[in-house]
Amino acid sequence: APILVAIDGPAGSGKSSVSRAAAERLGFGLLDTGAAYRALAWAALENELDLDDEVLVAELVESWGYVTTLVGEPAIEVVLPAAIGVKGHDVTDAIRDPAISGQVSRVSKHPVVRARLNEMFRRIVAESELPGVIIEGRDITTVVAPDAPVRILMTASPEVRAARRAGELQGADHEQVLADIMARDAKDVLVVDFMNPAPGVTLIDTSDLDFGQSVQAVIDVVQA
Ligand code: C5P
Repeated sequence: APILVAIDGPAGSGKSSVSRAAAERLGFGLLDTGAAYRALAWAALENELDLDDEVLVAELVESWGYVTTLVGEPAIEVVLPAAIGVKGHDVTDAIRDPAISGQVSRVSKHPVVRARLNEMFRRIVAESELPGVIIEGRDITTVVAPDAPVRILMTASPEVRAARRAGELQGADHEQVLADIMARDAKDVLVVDFMNPAPGVTLIDTSDLDFGQSVQAVIDVVQA
């Protein structure tokens, strides 16, 4: 089984981009669990389901045939099946839309949905033939892989996180982005505490680190 590196953190902490770069340097795979929640929200909206309906969303998880592939060149491949009428539809860009960011907590709040996705994440990792896998999200260090040999919580101040997100969403208003991030965190944190490190979890605060320093900080923890 691959060496597991669990990384949690809030939106804009740098977690996704830093994890990707660290995985590349380590020759590890990357599993972006947020992408799965986003793709599920996208599929539920596409099917005009009530996102607040736990039973309907859980049924969708069973039927959607979501596929994510871990490859040596870290890349997440999201393929949605014929079952929802969009066979082979590439949602890589669509799931990053702010409209999805605003809706995804409506599907991620359901315990049954989380349990099913967690099973899927563990299976994907267990079946991987890569030397290691970085798995990143909100509850990886605590729920999905609490026994991982490396567990990291990546944080940054709300202002820094909003500035980074505004940079990604070109032309976005900084105040609006800050408000959106705070609103999303407030909803997500009701489901899992990703603001404070659980016992044994290494805290990396990237507020005063640039991108390269953040990647190095993760690699240092992995190689310690
Ligand atoms: O990490 P990212 O911002 O892409 O995550 C999108 C959303 O997916 C989060 O706002 C949260 O609602 C949900 N999520 C989660 N648990 C995870 C990863 C993401 O609830 N492990």
